[in-house]
Amino acid sequence: MIIAIDKNSGFCFGVDAAVRKAEELLDQQNKLYCLGDIVHNEEEVNRLSKMGLITIDHAVFFTMKDATVLLRAHGEPPSTYAYARLNNIQLIDATCPIVLKLQQRIRQGYHSSRLQSGQVIIYGKRGHAEVNGLVGQTDGNAIVIEDITEIGNIDFTRPIELFAQTTKDLEGFHKLAGQLKINAVHAPVKINDTICRQVSNRIPVIKEFASRYSLIIFVSGHKSSNGKMLFEICQSVNPNTKFVSSIEELDRQWFNEIESVGICGATSTPKKMLEKVGEAIQNMGF
Ligand code: SF4
Repeated sequence: MIIAIDKNSGFCFGVDAAVRKAEELLDQQNKLYCLGDIVHNEEEVNRLSKMGLITIDHAVFFTMKDATVLLRAHGEPPSTYAYARLNNIQLIDATCPIVLKLQQRIRQGYHSSRLQSGQVIIYGKRGHAEVNGLVGQTDGNAIVIEDITEIGNIDFTRPIELFAQTTKDLEGFHKLAGQLKINAVHAPVKINDTICRQVSNRIPVIKEFASRYSLIIFVSGHKSSNGKMLFEICQSVNPNTKFVSSIEELDRQWFNEIESVGICGATSTPKKMLEKVGEAIQNMGF
């Protein structure tokens, strides 16, 4: 049986930089707080927690004082920075530079649209950490649209400025943008394509990879949005695609009479995890 690992899978540079930052700090100190899961991958979070990374949620963060806290690649709203300033919390900011730039653009878009009674729309997943950070740039006033069926929440008589969460799909974004232009006959619509190409550029490549093997093992944490999206894309070109979040979830029966297996994953799946999955399949002895 041929076993191949997708060379284009593995961490995107934003997640890679945040994980490296955590590792670097944990080499110098035996514990470090991180606000939220550093990456949407349970195995990777467990590995770092053994090194001393303590994941805290926002409820805990807002009770803390005099501490050092790492901010992950997804970014945070201004309220997190404000609380840290008032409570002697040193923030190690590992927000991805692409997300920081997007936050800045949304802030500017919000301030200029307010002057014309405009609305900032964010195409993204409600409640996702990155989206919370983006909505925070608008004092909580941005309208989050998960898909085109939610456009009823928009006032088409007022100016509209559209942004996207970095990991959303390009196709859905373009459909939404087109519909906004159709509906807003008398109001200006400004479209900002802010989708990160670290994810969208993987789509054609992963489609091609998934079509080449008899079985695809897609490796991702259950909480990863881009993991869910890339898995569905693999499944659409190769129905024999299985989702696993750890080697324990591999099922021997999947490999009976299979000629070739391709292993790929999300931008939050470390390359070494794909290699571990490859070794586990190899050890099954097919
Ligand atoms: S997907 Fe893009 S924007 Fe998001 S963390 Fe990775 S590199 Fe940064």
